[in-house]
Amino acid sequence: MKNIAEIRDCFGCGLCAKVCAHEVIDIRLNEKGFYQPYITDPAKCVECGLCIRVCSFMNHSGTPSPVKCYAAWSKDAGVRMTSTSGGVSYEIARHLMGVGYGFCGVRYNSDKHRAEHYIAETVEDLHWSKGSKYLPSYTLEAFTRIDPRKKYMVVGTPCQIASFRNYTELFRCQDNFLLVDFFCHGVPSSLLWEKYLTRHGSGLGKIRSATWRNKDNGWRRSYCITLDGSKKVYRSSGRDEFYTMFLGDACLGKACYSSCRFKSDKSYADIRIGDFWGERYKDDQAGVNAVVAFTERGDRVLRDADLELKEFSFAEVSEGQMVSNAEYQCFYPLVMKGLGSRFNLLPLLSGMVYLYRKLKSWR
Ligand SMILES: Cc1cc2nc3c(=O)[nH]c(=O)nc-3n(C[C@H](O)[C@H](O)[C@H](O)COP(=O)(O)OP(=O)(O)OC[C@H]3O[C@@H](n4cnc5c(N)ncnc54)[C@H](O)[C@@H]3O)c2cc1C
Repeated sequence: MKNIAEIRDCFGCGLCAKVCAHEVIDIRLNEKGFYQPYITDPAKCVECGLCIRVCSFMNHSGTPSPVKCYAAWSKDAGVRMTSTSGGVSYEIARHLMGVGYGFCGVRYNSDKHRAEHYIAETVEDLHWSKGSKYLPSYTLEAFTRIDPRKKYMVVGTPCQIASFRNYTELFRCQDNFLLVDFFCHGVPSSLLWEKYLTRHGSGLGKIRSATWRNKDNGWRRSYCITLDGSKKVYRSSGRDEFYTMFLGDACLGKACYSSCRFKSDKSYADIRIGDFWGERYKDDQAGVNAVVAFTERGDRVLRDADLELKEFSFAEVSEGQMVSNAEYQCFYPLVMKGLGSRFNLLPLLSGMVYLYRKLKSWR
């Protein structure tokens, strides 16, 4: 294979487009609502193969073993409260910015209704990265702005970070990057978000921000979507259609079912973060991160950041996390067709997924 022209349903990480010196690769949403590369001008491709070499969808190699594992949270109660889990991502970024690093993480763009990577120039800009956006993130603009001669912390899904690791090795700039990923359930289609917004966002005025988790009822019950409109605010309650579909594995990226090689202790990052779902902090409502350092450098950074750290075994820290890929559901083609329809079939589809899972759990 000379370039990524034939790759379909990949991780959509965008590194192929970043490394293409001839700028013939673009990253666009495919018909299923996931990012994918497209060759815009095949005649200009010089077949250098760089796009293939950085691609974590195409390249498989061994991952390092965990160095140290922790339960962790920010010492700043405000940061902890406004982050998804314990605020570890924010604290690592704040520490690294203080020693000359830039930050590349994900914000929600309420004009384009999408999650996207961005570059934070100041500590104030870090605010936008707080909170999980359970959507595919558009990486290209931010990744293109990253200068490999400068220092950056980059946060992303494990597959995005695996390609980023390939990039830093290829261009011999590993020392300039501190890479952070998370325990990842999988990423749902942006078509799900589009339909959810049409159903619950109309009548709210201009949507100024969206959040997927909040701790009003505590961290353990934080799966609540909030749409902050200029006229009204929407807050999900009870059985939410978005979470029924997302956590019911009804519309994840095809690659999440079949090609993810990054569950549990398989990571190319320096640091992996997540929710500490295990028994030990079951009564905590402020939020605790599960944290795994995969490199000595990652571990040093954790110890230098403004974090409370308690060391445990990997088994304890990763309790409750997925160990294998999400199960491909027989109704996947039907769901994707339904989400792509011009009608809003979300209530019907989420009802079907809910019933199917209930029946399955009874059997
Ligand atoms: C799609 C998805 C699936 C996840 N699945 C799991 C899981 O199965 N188990 C688990 O324990 N945790 C999972 N997480 C991570 C979890 O939700 C928290 O983000 C994590 O615990 C970190 O918490 P925090 O308090 O440090 O930071 P937060 O305040 O949540 O900061 C989150 C960090 O993640 C980045 N980020 C946010 N959205 C995205 C995105 N769409 N793509 C890439 N990067 C993003 C931000 O830049 C930020 O740096 C998932 C996150 C996402 C986005």
